[in-house]
Amino acid sequence: MAHAVLLDVVARLCLDRHAELWCTGLPLRTIEVYRVLYSTGANRDEHRAVFMGGQMEQSNISFIGLGAMGQPMASNIVKKGTALTVFDIDTARMEPVVALGAAGAKSLGEAIDGAEIVITMLPATPHVEKVVTGPGGVLDSIPAGGVVLDMSTIAPSGTDRIAKSCARKGVAFVDAPVGRLAYHAQRGESLFMVGCDDDAVFDRVLPLLEAMGTTIHRCGGVGSGIRTKVVNNFMIISIVQITAEGLALATKMGVDVAILKEVNAGTSGNNGQFQFNFANKVLQGDTTPGFTIDLAHKDLGLALEAASDFRLGMPVGSSVHAVYGAARSGRYADKDFSALLEYACELAAVDTPRLPATHTEG
Ligand code: NAD
Repeated sequence: MAHAVLLDVVARLCLDRHAELWCTGLPLRTIEVYRVLYSTGANRDEHRAVFMGGQMEQSNISFIGLGAMGQPMASNIVKKGTALTVFDIDTARMEPVVALGAAGAKSLGEAIDGAEIVITMLPATPHVEKVVTGPGGVLDSIPAGGVVLDMSTIAPSGTDRIAKSCARKGVAFVDAPVGRLAYHAQRGESLFMVGCDDDAVFDRVLPLLEAMGTTIHRCGGVGSGIRTKVVNNFMIISIVQITAEGLALATKMGVDVAILKEVNAGTSGNNGQFQFNFANKVLQGDTTPGFTIDLAHKDLGLALEAASDFRLGMPVGSSVHAVYGAARSGRYADKDFSALLEYACELAAVDTPRLPATHTEG
């Protein structure tokens, strides 16, 4: 029987809980069967548990960096029944994930001891380089054949350096930066942009990505995920400032922001930052991060750095970067990036507009 037909037949027969038995003795990998089942839309969580549980437990997995994103992402892996060792230099950040059943490590060394897959979700390039390639870092202990899965947003040039160091040790490297925001991560609804050279390595990390998110884009080889992310983030972060300026002007002119939102939704200017992020955050009076102005400034800097490497001018990006730079020098640094609206309104000497909660669904 042709491989694809056999795969389809087994996948459909496997709609009970004997999947592993069906695959035993057949020239199929459970991950392949899972993919067919997954595409049928059959009960995702049940089949993920049947097919992925066994696969994930084969590896010792560590998760480093449990901030606004890492904490819910690691929690979702643990909630799906996968054993995880976690570490953050801020030990309080580990507590909610440990409460769900993860092993909390006292040091990076303890966290990576015996690990075959190490996931990093750290603020910026120097943090990831320190943890992965620095003295006493991941590459000092992970065995050849292990995998480093970096989900942080860092400089593409940094990704290339780290990937090369991994390759020299026979360790696979996957860049899988995260799209969407912290509240998506909490709901297990993140989007991933994956750069990975090897199908077998992709299959090893796929169950982890599926435990944390709903949308997975394989962008190409190593480094393609982070490059996609940097460009997309440049657009998002710039749109936040455009939205903040627009709403400050609207407020100054006495425009009803609720009506503006409805109008915007019905035009080609339909803007996710206005419709979803601002509507759920700053327009509700909530500027807790989320995604901080500090991190947005860093991410925009990554785009400008890449543009400079390619001798490309980004005049809008440069001026938006200056606005974020000014905002983060004061009390806005740790606020959600939608708080640029408060900053714009402060400069315009108007009260920040608010929306009723009925407008949060966009
Ligand atoms: P965060 O600052 O909330 O978390 C980073 C965590 O890393 C902190 O808990 C910190 O203590 C820890 N850390 C720093 N150095 C460490 C080290 N050497 N060892 C162990 N832990 C260390 O940041 P975040 O919002 O979770 O973002 C993480 C990454 O994801 C960033 O690159 C960011 O740009 C990106 N990102 C963030 C969002 C978002 O909405 N927050 C969305 C997509 C992508």
